[in-house]
Amino acid sequence: MYGGHVGIALAGKGLRQAVPLWVLLLATLLPDWTDAAVCAAGISSPPSGILSHSLPAVALLGGSLALLYYGAARDVAGAGLVGLVVVSHAVTDYATGLKPTWPGGPWIGLQVYQQPAIDFVIEAIVIVIGWLVYRRSVSEDRRRSTPVMLMLIALLLLQLAASMSFALFPGIRKC
Ligand SMILES: [Zn+2]
Repeated sequence: MYGGHVGIALAGKGLRQAVPLWVLLLATLLPDWTDAAVCAAGISSPPSGILSHSLPAVALLGGSLALLYYGAARDVAGAGLVGLVVVSHAVTDYATGLKPTWPGGPWIGLQVYQQPAIDFVIEAIVIVIGWLVYRRSVSEDRRRSTPVMLMLIALLLLQLAASMSFALFPGIRKC
């Protein structure tokens, strides 16, 4: 999942405004950034995704970021939300991709990436729902403001670009 992860961060912001959006964006993208760091560091074994997207890795990443956030903000509910947003990354990746469960465990996923049009529809739904939850939390006069509307349009366009690149270059990998 690509744009859908950002949609989930937006929903988190809508549910708990005290948590900064950048923290939620970090939370929602942490497994992918960890994957990119592992890849860039040239760590080839264990297999790709084990250190970033497997259940123990996601629990560790989510727990660590939640603890860090609690240490900084002393906000239990906010820290729980940050941890859940990290976990949501793996759950939604199981829908669109194929990810490891644990070392030696099965790989699961619906691999929707192989059907870019369906991938776009699923991610667009997640983006729109996340944006609607976020939009409910902003003041009524800002709901139709250009920045709030542009946020939705930009996310959908970004997702369209990502889904189209999957359609045009089926062999593309994230790292
Ligand atoms: Zn991912």
